[in-house]
Amino acid sequence: MKYCSQCRADIVVAIPPGDNRERYTCSACDFIFYENPRIIAGSIPVFGDQILLCKRSIEPRSGYWTLPAGFMENGETTQQGAWRETLEESLAKVEIGNLFSVCNVPRINQVHMFYLAQMTSHVFGPTTESSEVALFAEQDIPWNNIAFATVKQTLKHFLTDRKHNQFQLHHLEF
Ligand SMILES: [Zn+2]
Repeated sequence: MKYCSQCRADIVVAIPPGDNRERYTCSACDFIFYENPRIIAGSIPVFGDQILLCKRSIEPRSGYWTLPAGFMENGETTQQGAWRETLEESLAKVEIGNLFSVCNVPRINQVHMFYLAQMTSHVFGPTTESSEVALFAEQDIPWNNIAFATVKQTLKHFLTDRKHNQFQLHHLEF
């Protein structure tokens, strides 16, 4: 970001009056461009006892498997974001259930939220973001090729909770 989107003047880094952090600030109109964490919403789509995973065809982590998830859009709820991302990345339609994991990743200013989800049909398939989409039984999950630590931990907690037949909300930090 170099020029102010409000008035086209140069942007400088400064601590605004009353603030305690450096911000990108317009040198002319004093508009402050706040940068805040972003939310990634996703789901754990299940069909029977199998879990739907997507093989990423885009960076980062292209070629690795992930749960369907992505950046929330303005104007939607986290549940709606999780539902939309699941459809966009896997073509699967799901019923979104309870929130299952909240993964804080302050190092990259992200929060990943995964919802329990039941697939409403056996329909799924590759998309522009996923070269492959497949259902996995527990013993077939490609643990060494999971794209993100947040996904791996969420899957591990999911499988443990499922064994005990009791799903809890997990607050995780990375
Ligand atoms: Zn300006």
